[in-house]
Amino acid sequence: MGSSMRIPANVELDAGTKTFASGLLPDLIAALRGGRKGDLVAVISGDPGIGPDLEAWCRFTRNTLIDMAVEEGRTRWVFRYGEAAEDVGENRPVGSRLWLYTNFDCNLSCDYCCVRSSPKARRRALGLERVRRIAIEATQLGVSEIFVTGGEPFMLPDIGEILAACAAAAPTTVLTNGMLFAGSRLETLRSLPRERVAFQISLDSPTPERHDRHRGKGTWARAWNGIQRVRAEGFRVRLAAAVSTDAEAREFQSFLDVHDVSEENRVIRRIALRGTATEGIALARADLVPEETITAEGVFWHPVGAEDSDLLVSRDIFPLAQSFADVRRAFDRESEHQRRLARIFNCA
Ligand code: SF4
Repeated sequence: MGSSMRIPANVELDAGTKTFASGLLPDLIAALRGGRKGDLVAVISGDPGIGPDLEAWCRFTRNTLIDMAVEEGRTRWVFRYGEAAEDVGENRPVGSRLWLYTNFDCNLSCDYCCVRSSPKARRRALGLERVRRIAIEATQLGVSEIFVTGGEPFMLPDIGEILAACAAAAPTTVLTNGMLFAGSRLETLRSLPRERVAFQISLDSPTPERHDRHRGKGTWARAWNGIQRVRAEGFRVRLAAAVSTDAEAREFQSFLDVHDVSEENRVIRRIALRGTATEGIALARADLVPEETITAEGVFWHPVGAEDSDLLVSRDIFPLAQSFADVRRAFDRESEHQRRLARIFNCA
């Protein structure tokens, strides 16, 4: 255990000078009472001696200790309250999905963006040449789906070629906010192979209020127009919502029912506590079934933390077979216990 990045937690508990023998236990119980199963709880103390007790307590109570790090002379332990929150029961083989972050800059600056994209974010372009090589090597590794995300991929002048290269290797989905389809970008869209390229467009709520609060005024209406436009061009469109509660998820499901959106064209997921998000589910590496993710900066474990050092697998993209092998080996090394906890967190 021990990571170079501070794992975000839902609850931070400063133990002060307390130990298990002197009042830490009631504080822990109080912290859990205010939380939800699946939350990550951090305990910070200047006394490293509480570690063994905390470990034993976690084992006894079926909580899972997932990280320990020393910061400024104090120790910070992170454990998960109860078992992982959801078990979606999907069985997708590791290595079947490949994610590409093409640029990181974006026309929007949503308040929970997991990779801190915005108009001010520096463009870190993967570039057409690297994408072409990745696509060729990916076919040899048995990748069956490619996902292309930005920031906003349609900010790139050569996104048409990038998507064509990916689509030649495997069925490809491009994640977009759907707002830029005019002029030459509309021409680019029209040039894409409809049987190989699908769109995933973000829409967070049935009405503009919540979506616009997170993503900016007027964005719901523009996303909705984008969805209609891409559909009218004959592409498959998947609608993706980031929600905070079960009630919001249900509300969005009903909206999709009304609009006749089929199950396979729906992605509804919780906001993750990564990037610029200040609330959401905290996800540690051990929680995530890996989905290899490539950015200009290297290879990552999962798209939900594509610039976070705790999810970095390698700075070297090539040969792709090497980073795929690294991810598989790391995943296999995990104990049965951890593997049981790892869940598929669907970004698509
Ligand atoms: S969530 Fe998507 S649309 Fe919003 S800033 Fe991030 S990349 Fe851009």
